[in-house]
Amino acid sequence: MQHLVSPVGIVRSCFKEKFAIPRQPHLAPAARGVLELLPPFDQGEAVQGLEQVSHVWLLFLFHQALEDKPRLKVRPPRLGGNQAVGVFSTRATHRPNGIGQSVVRLERVEPDRLHLSGIDLLDGTPVLDIKPYVPYADAVADARNDMADAPPPLIAVDWQDDALNLAHQHAQRLGEPLVELIEQCLAQDPRPAYQQPQPERRYGACFWDLDVHWHYPEPGRIRVLDVQMAQSTA
Ligand code: SAM
Repeated sequence: MQHLVSPVGIVRSCFKEKFAIPRQPHLAPAARGVLELLPPFDQGEAVQGLEQVSHVWLLFLFHQALEDKPRLKVRPPRLGGNQAVGVFSTRATHRPNGIGQSVVRLERVEPDRLHLSGIDLLDGTPVLDIKPYVPYADAVADARNDMADAPPPLIAVDWQDDALNLAHQHAQRLGEPLVELIEQCLAQDPRPAYQQPQPERRYGACFWDLDVHWHYPEPGRIRVLDVQMAQSTA
């Protein structure tokens, strides 16, 4: 049986590229975005009552990871990227039907949009459905997952002085918790586990309209080197 689905909205996110997006929601509470609802869901009726809810489930399309041929096994970054496991035992982006799910904080409801935080979603992500989080049913006290039993360990993030000053200035311009966003995302260590970071190697990612660069002065520590307007927006 085939069934056609179409998005109820599109996420406008702080994340403009996949690299450095946390691997699950909540890992970066400062990661914010807006879910813009599409007609006929953008008139207020469809979101009436949602103001009574602190979190929502989003079912969405991994629109930048869609593939024609379904994979049966994947190599999750969490396991170092070299161990293959069954696709259904992971939350990998490459999966049958390309459907993702995230519980995110609902900050504010407007008739045609939902303001969200703690997101792990790329800008432009099509959302297929929105459901309220129901604590008594969704929080399972005795749940276990031996493959992913704790959040990834955090690494220390520090700043070059001028980069931190610039980040504060841009935070004011954007009206966003930019310093926290960068620190929370980089503390997850976005680098693929198999790469040994040499101190001279610069890494970069785009947050909002800014390119951020960092390096690893020593293993297990990140230093933010610069924050500048992204090429496409400068
Ligand atoms: N919480 C979701 C889940 O469990 O289905 C997503 C988990 S997935 C491991 C998280 C990663 O998906 C992020 O780190 C980001 O790189 C990637 N991602 C987010 N939005 C995407 C999109 N629209 N298309 C492709 N990849 C995306």
